[in-house]
Amino acid sequence: MVERRDEFIQYLTNLRLTPRTVHSYAKSYLSGVSKTLGITIGPSTVSSPKDVAGIKSRLLTAGTHPHTVGNWGTALKHYSEFVNEELSLEYYTSADEISEESTFVEGAKRRVTVNAYERDPEARRMCIRRYGWNCAVCEMNFAETYGEIGTDYIHVHHKKPLNMLGKGYAVDPEKDLIPVCPNCHAMLHRRQKVLSIKELRAYYSNK
Ligand SMILES: [Zn+2]
Ligand SMILES: [Zn+2]
Repeated sequence: MVERRDEFIQYLTNLRLTPRTVHSYAKSYLSGVSKTLGITIGPSTVSSPKDVAGIKSRLLTAGTHPHTVGNWGTALKHYSEFVNEELSLEYYTSADEISEESTFVEGAKRRVTVNAYERDPEARRMCIRRYGWNCAVCEMNFAETYGEIGTDYIHVHHKKPLNMLGKGYAVDPEKDLIPVCPNCHAMLHRRQKVLSIKELRAYYSNK
């Protein structure tokens, strides 16, 4: 059995894989894994590279051809990434600090949930006064890039994981907030664990 197959198909389609590949990954390959090992493919069984490696070695032990294991492994890898993307959205939206009015911002790459701290006008102002209007990761500046229409536009990212904040927590706009462009903001929240600015800078400069 493969849980959340329809959402997984949508996820693969968004990666711009061909319909044929999407079909192979989401249907033939994952069903093959599920039947061969008698396991359910779902968020509780396939959510990390370690899970994927474990399943691959069990497939080999079960006598599955290495070439097939390679193909099925690729499908499993995508599935674990799909699960992580789902988790990061759930994790981020289920945090206490996000009120019903929390807003979704359409970044260029994916949807970002902006939490209460990132929307608080006074905290934003203090953060931007301290760090300016450039993205802290890629240094992009909206006014420079887009001219007049881009003036005074930037996201503000809250660096501390929301689930680690205690009850009496008060935001420190200089320590806890940092300006980032929507693309970098989306990448900071790409995985379940929010990346640090330094970590994302390293990805950005290595590309
Ligand atoms: Zn940026
Ligand atoms: Zn953020």
